[in-house]
Amino acid sequence: MTTLINMLPVMESFYTIQGEGYNTGKAAYFIRLGGCDVGCVWCDVKDSWDVTKHPHVTIDKIVEDALKHPSRFVVITGGEPLMHDLTFLCDQLHKNNFIIALETSGAYPLTGTFDWLCVSPKKFKFPLPELLNSADELKVIVFNKSDFEWAEKNAKDVKEDCKLFLQPEYDEFNKVMPLIIEYVKANPQWQVSLQVHKVINVP
Ligand code: SF4
Repeated sequence: MTTLINMLPVMESFYTIQGEGYNTGKAAYFIRLGGCDVGCVWCDVKDSWDVTKHPHVTIDKIVEDALKHPSRFVVITGGEPLMHDLTFLCDQLHKNNFIIALETSGAYPLTGTFDWLCVSPKKFKFPLPELLNSADELKVIVFNKSDFEWAEKNAKDVKEDCKLFLQPEYDEFNKVMPLIIEYVKANPQWQVSLQVHKVINVP
């Protein structure tokens, strides 16, 4: 018998505007889970990596906090959220009529049910083929020009209707943004994703 996980390590949770990818602009409650072993050199949430630094919070409490805000759109992110079994969290959020989006590197098997699955594959720990196959959105972070090849390699494994995004790595913005613009103009199946939350100064 499977034991449902009823506590998860929460690094932070906050109500904001989704700033990236397909759901940009939507009011969303973010749940950032602790723990990640993917090891991206440019990671901007390195504090999330050590799971032991983050308090375990009951799923009842996570959902109760989410319900305090008017939006019923929730984004589960990390860290790498799929290092944890998300089945019970998703069940409880769905019971309370939340639409659930997941942001994952795709490096771990899928648990839980999602209304929107964003896979952001990382060269440091490859995504699983089944995650790419299930993605609604493929969001590739462009740190240097070799990432266009990486983006195309991953795009081969997604569904036909999967949305394709290229997003500049924040600190490399000035270097890579002109390359992304030219790439998207030449390959219009891709779209640009920007970190709008950083421009409008929300978390
Ligand atoms: Fe950071 Fe995300 Fe990469 Fe993990 S997968 S190291 S949290 S950017």
